[in-house]
Amino acid sequence: MPQTYDYDVVIVGGGPAGMTAALYTGRSMLKSVLIERGAPGGELLNTEVIEDYPGFERIEGWDLASRFEAHAKKFGAEFHTANVTSIRRLDDGSFETTCDNDDVYFSPAVIVTAGGTPVKLGIPGEAEYAGKGVSYCAICDGAFFKGQTIAVVGGGDAAVEESDFLTRYAAKVYLIHRRDQLRASRILQKRLFENPGIEVVWDTEVESVHGDDAGLVRHLTLRHVKSGALSELAVTGLFVFIGFQPNTTIIADHVDHDAQGYLVTDANMSTSIPGLFAAGDVRVQLTRQVTTAVGDATTAAIAAEKYLTARRDRSAAQTAGAGA
Ligand code: NAP
Repeated sequence: MPQTYDYDVVIVGGGPAGMTAALYTGRSMLKSVLIERGAPGGELLNTEVIEDYPGFERIEGWDLASRFEAHAKKFGAEFHTANVTSIRRLDDGSFETTCDNDDVYFSPAVIVTAGGTPVKLGIPGEAEYAGKGVSYCAICDGAFFKGQTIAVVGGGDAAVEESDFLTRYAAKVYLIHRRDQLRASRILQKRLFENPGIEVVWDTEVESVHGDDAGLVRHLTLRHVKSGALSELAVTGLFVFIGFQPNTTIIADHVDHDAQGYLVTDANMSTSIPGLFAAGDVRVQLTRQVTTAVGDATTAAIAAEKYLTARRDRSAAQTAGAGA
């Protein structure tokens, strides 16, 4: 039976940004709910070890996620499990947030922390072999490739970090990058080049994924981007880490965004729609780290509280004016 709820603040997404926003709105005594489709944690659950979160020299992703969750709940934030399908602004400036289970949430403020979904290569065989050798999550699937030869695509932090991680399982990891230079940070590159289990294949794109009669990946067709030469690489797995697509299409109204769909905000994390705030990976910014997500979310939650106070004051003044 679909439910209708009223909250002061609805937080969409349960990664580090969402859970931090929930901590702060809960602590501000705002009636708050965080809606997350899976287990709370977001990208933390796709990261084995975090070693750049201040105060924790080394902590496993799931551990940090469960600490965030417990901390937010301690301040009274509620957590609901559902997939948000739309956020719509109503005539009075408040929001209607609808989920795939037909539950509807009404609130004068919404904080979007919905993160993103992995970008796909869009090549033949990728969708066909997804889950049968093609993966977008090393921590979820790495253990399936013990002693095997696999490939990773990408040249950013994610591809480089996950290549290193995958050598715990795989006998050999080819990192295939379309240029002759990596985008990843220097410390991650240093680790990559020091790892004897990884071979970088430069200036190369994956053209297609091929498998056997059992439906499992067996080889890739590669294309050298400078010479155009085609070659085959025998692998049983392909991990794709070529970026994220922000989950911003759930916003039904026009909202300012960049060419990739990331939401544009001001310094208070306010989007172009009053009362709609954004934090974490959905937002245009230089980098996407747990620390930046947490910082954004702190600002968004405090700005949301100030927005709600101003809205209440305006409404009270109007009522008083009408009565005078
Ligand atoms: P990213 O930094 O945007 O890198 C994407 C990589 O994929 C680039 O090297 C890009 O190549 C390549 N690429 C894009 N489209 C491609 C295609 N169609 N075919 C082949 N290659 C393609 O993405 P990310 O690595 O997912 O990182 C996202 C954000 O999360 C970044 O801000 C990153 O710093 C952060 N992050 C941080 C950590 C960490 O600090 N431990 C870990 C993971 C992610 P070009 O270089 O040629 O454009």
